[in-house]
Formats: sequence, C-alpha cells, structure tokens
Amino acid sequence: MIMVLRLGHRPARDQRVTTHVALAARALGADGILVSTKDEGLERTVNSVVERFGGAFTIRTGVDWRKEIKAWKGQVVHLTMYGERLSEALPTLDTRDMMIVVGAEKVPREVYDLADRNISIGNQPHSEVAALAIFLDRYLGGGMLERSFEGGLTVVPNPRGKTVIDRRRGRRKKAPYEG
Ligand code: SAM
Repeated sequence: MIMVLRLGHRPARDQRVTTHVALAARALGADGILVSTKDEGLERTVNSVVERFGGAFTIRTGVDWRKEIKAWKGQVVHLTMYGERLSEALPTLDTRDMMIVVGAEKVPREVYDLADRNISIGNQPHSEVAALAIFLDRYLGGGMLERSFEGGLTVVPNPRGKTVIDRRRGRRKKAPYEG
C-alpha cells in the first residue's frame, strides 16, 4: 500500500497541480491520495479519471495531516529538496506500507520530525509532481508504466496517432487521428 499525502493544498491556487500530483500518483503506482484541505471539485476530477480509466485509486480530502501521519502503520517518507540523497536512501527503504508526503506552500517544521525519512530528489527546488514521479518510478523499479488498469477506456500505444478502446460502449477502436 502506497498512500500520498498532499499538504498545504489551496483550492483556488493549487487545483491543477494537486490534480497532477494525484494523477501521477495513480499512474505510477500509488493506491490513493490524502489532501489536507477539503476540495470536492478535486475529488470529482480524480474520481472521474478513475471511473473512466480504471484501477482502485482513492482520494480523500480535508484530512487532519498530523493525525494521518501519526496513525500511519508503516514508513513515512517526506520528499523535500533538503533531505538525504535518493540514491543513498533507496536501498535502505523497506517493503512496509509507505506514506509519501509532498508539500505545496512552506511545509511545517513538524513534518520533518514526524517523517521517518526526509528524502531529496536532487537538492534543487523543482516540483512536487516531478519529485513524486521520480521517487515512485525509482522505488517501484520502473515497472508501473506498463501496468494494466483494466478500465473502461484503454489507450493502445500508437507511434503516430491516438487509439482508444472504449469497453463502456462495446469493444471498438477509434480511428487514429492526428493531434
Ligand atoms: N518552498 C517550499 C518549502 O520550502 O517547503 C517547497 C515548495 S515546492 C514547490 C512543493 C513541494 O515539492 C515540496 O514540499 C516537496 O515535497 C516537493 N519538492 C520540490 N523540490 C523537491 C526536491 N528537489 N526534492 C524533493 N521534493 C521536492
């Protein structure tokens, strides 16, 4: 079980980035996301992708992040540019359930202490989406990209156009098209 905890989400400002955090988490192997601020629009967007494209990814918003971290039975990894090197941390992580914490605005000091590990994806500032994607890909060994989600909509890899199988309306293929 891998759960992402998104801290400091500001609905008016962060909706797009938090949606991308959730979708990257789902695509790259996490089982769900917790978001520290209530945002029903965000829940609808993520649930709609899950309904159409499959998988069992969950989203819960408006959680008490301190309680969630303290109650987590497993390891808690906080991704921060100030943390230890990913390459050195990776071999020491175990296979227990993992909570991965990513911030938006300034992350409270307490998070650094509550986390079992503070890990950097390089020591330059970049993005929670990039940090999470690289972490999941390296931690899970890169295999998640080719996993099947058994959804209503399945994209078939196509070097020149778009091919989608829509099982919701009977098995059919859309003709590839540009764009
Ligand atoms: N200024 C904020 C602070 O000092 O806590 C960080 C803002 S950053 C845009 C948002 C999140 O992206 C961070 O909380 C962290 O989770 C993630 N992040 C950004 N760069 C990172 C890096 N080099 N390594 C790991 N995580 C990173």
